[in-house]
Amino acid sequence: MGSLNYHRPKTIKETLALMEKGVPLAGGTALTPQRYDVAAVIDLQDLKLDELKVGKSKIRIGATVKLQALLKAQEEIPQALAHTCRQEAALNIRNAATIGGAVMTGDGRSPLLTALLSLDASVITEPGNNSEPLEKMLEKRDGRRKPRLIVALEMMRPKRMVYEQVSRSPADRPLVCLAVAEHLASKGKSHVIAALGGYGERPIRLTKMEEALEKGASLAEAAVLARKAYSDAGDAFASAAYRAEIAGVLARRLFTEVKG
Ligand SMILES: Cc1cc2nc3c(=O)[nH]c(=O)nc-3n(C[C@H](O)[C@H](O)[C@H](O)COP(=O)(O)OP(=O)(O)OC[C@H]3O[C@@H](n4cnc5c(N)ncnc54)[C@H](O)[C@@H]3O)c2cc1C
Repeated sequence: MGSLNYHRPKTIKETLALMEKGVPLAGGTALTPQRYDVAAVIDLQDLKLDELKVGKSKIRIGATVKLQALLKAQEEIPQALAHTCRQEAALNIRNAATIGGAVMTGDGRSPLLTALLSLDASVITEPGNNSEPLEKMLEKRDGRRKPRLIVALEMMRPKRMVYEQVSRSPADRPLVCLAVAEHLASKGKSHVIAALGGYGERPIRLTKMEEALEKGASLAEAAVLARKAYSDAGDAFASAAYRAEIAGVLARRLFTEVKG
């Protein structure tokens, strides 16, 4: 077992230089068990990346904002987003885990990643102050392996947002979950973004269903597209037939709620 070096930089520049020889340490809830596999950890807690900014149309969440802090901000952020932080992990973990860490490690059963997709979230990284859609980052095979520092997440503030999940117990991770957000577009119009989770390496956007609804598809037609998206989503936790059926039911229910 080799020794582990600990660094606590004060600036982004210093952090990026240190990332040549180590990995970022945020809440440590996922990294700590793997600490023997890394040469050095770079603690992000002095970088002042823990700011939450809620504007009229946008929300910016610093990378080291804790999941519990987001849950506590439920009067400012969409309640459904706060709720997915509660569903993400138990209190002890939420008190330490950060949104940046969740983005780096979350899989398809992550309620928070599902919610963030429905908010069309972008990941802001250094070097370069780059902004990349979360969806693209998750899609790419090496999207989360590249040695980049996440500094924040930016997302649209929706007019309305709803989230529901089906799991084996209320506190368990979802077998199927759906987040639907209605966003204001130009000329008083609005459009809907939907994300489906509960299976695989990452949650997915229901783009075909969004497009169909835009063209006036019925709820029944939308539900068929949601079912199709999970028609192969079988694993040890649930069969594909079960997940597909539940995806259709949730789609009908949440679209009815969002569209009134
Ligand atoms: C007992 C226990 C129960 C858990 N239960 C659940 C659960 O129910 N559901 C669930 O989804 N997860 C669970 N987890 C996993 C873990 O809590 C989450 O993955 C958590 O969101 C990780 O966040 P963190 O801030 O602690 O990240 P860390 O552990 O600090 O880091 C995780 C990874 O992300 C990288 N990273 C962190 N921040 C950044 C950044 N800003 N930029 C670039 N890279 C970064 C690190 O280098 C590391 O590779 C559990 C963990 C434990 C120990």
